[in-house]
Amino acid sequence: MAASDPMPVTGSEQPALTADPGAGKLAARVALRIERDIARAGWPIGHVLGSEPALQERYQVSRQVLREAIRLVEHHRVAAMRRGPFGGLVVCAPDARAATSAMLMYLEFANTTLEHVLAVRLAVEPLAAALAAEHITEPGIAELRGLLADEAATCPHPRSLNRLHLALARLCGNPALELFVQVLCALTARYDRGPNAASDRALADAHQAHRSIVAAVVAGETSPAQFRATEHLTALRRHLRERRPPLEATGAAETPNGVAGDVKLAELVAQQIIAEIRTNDWGPGTVIGSEAALLDRLNIGRSVLREAVRLLEYHSIAYMRRGPGGGLIINRPDPTASVQAIARHLRYRGTSPGHLCVLRGALELESVNHVSALTHDPPLDAELAGLACDDWHLRLAQLSGNPVLWLFLRILITLRSLPADPPPTDAEHDGITTALLGEDRALARYRMRHHLRRLDPVIVGRPSAPRP
Ligand SMILES: [Zn+2]
Ligand SMILES: [Zn+2]
Repeated sequence: MAASDPMPVTGSEQPALTADPGAGKLAARVALRIERDIARAGWPIGHVLGSEPALQERYQVSRQVLREAIRLVEHHRVAAMRRGPFGGLVVCAPDARAATSAMLMYLEFANTTLEHVLAVRLAVEPLAAALAAEHITEPGIAELRGLLADEAATCPHPRSLNRLHLALARLCGNPALELFVQVLCALTARYDRGPNAASDRALADAHQAHRSIVAAVVAGETSPAQFRATEHLTALRRHLRERRPPLEATGAAETPNGVAGDVKLAELVAQQIIAEIRTNDWGPGTVIGSEAALLDRLNIGRSVLREAVRLLEYHSIAYMRRGPGGGLIINRPDPTASVQAIARHLRYRGTSPGHLCVLRGALELESVNHVSALTHDPPLDAELAGLACDDWHLRLAQLSGNPVLWLFLRILITLRSLPADPPPTDAEHDGITTALLGEDRALARYRMRHHLRRLDPVIVGRPSAPRP
């Protein structure tokens, strides 16, 4: 579904993500240019962009740089090189896989816990259920009922249970929400250690809950759909908390439900290295090992290791230092690459400002919920003083201590265009901060909602709202 305008979100010739592409390497910049040219051309799937020499000429780079750029473009699944007489770089229909795997890489590296994941699921999935009830169609009804039948037939199995969550997110008609739920379900699956004695009952309860959610969605009852989804996710959280050991990732490089499929070997190796970093709790600057030591330990070929290292470097997770005392060294987490991957995918899917706006509301209210429950040093008002609107919201999400919430919000904020002179927001921010300092969460939520509603005309690109 290539939209006629491939970048409706930013609405301008230059997408919002023009800043330094992560490592700032020439190949990464060339990859970004190729991808932008594809987006600008309306994402012509199957179109041949040009042969290797033609592309070298067009982007004015050496063959080596071009080849590295093409590897990145292929990793993003935006285009692929076809060999032979009619060969060249062919535009692909991007699936969500590249975007989700980039987010997963960053979030695993940023020490995401199951609690973080479930908090965000509770914030966004009930919204997906309500929107699905609003947009449901005959084929959608058939799909949901088919999934319920599959669940019943498999007794039900956790894998089949996940599919209903993904289907509701797809049927809600909001590509950003759909992508976020895919990531959340994949993350949840990574913490799942498989069935245990207590889970049979929980699985049966989950199936019943799915039936009642689907009944509300089919009937077009938005509030019951939302309420039942909230109840179901609360029960899921309770169940997962009771399991032992509770909040540790399995660290397995297992492919998440239908999201990653046949991940290339280099991606699996990169995931394995991330899992190792997490398990050993290694900080930035730690040398994971020399190339020779890694080849030996991971039992893989040099070309696979080099591609895995390229991926880790691209995602700013680690970098290879040559020479004596060198080796693969851990970086600080940097989400630039995953933010770009998601922005790329959501532009392709034709995400509208309205889609971003409704999702942002859910996330911001969740950040208010969590920040108010914490005590801060330095105090909250000092942390938030004097920040511009976008930075203020991102800082608040960061103070909530939930990396998933922060990453999702950063994506939404990155994707929407800012007006040249945004309306003043300091007084409203201060009002929210004051309510949070007084632990008055209800008032903080009210003020946040009011503030976002006033920003809404800016977000959706209508003329500025009247200033109060
Ligand atoms: Zn469920
Ligand atoms: Zn603001």
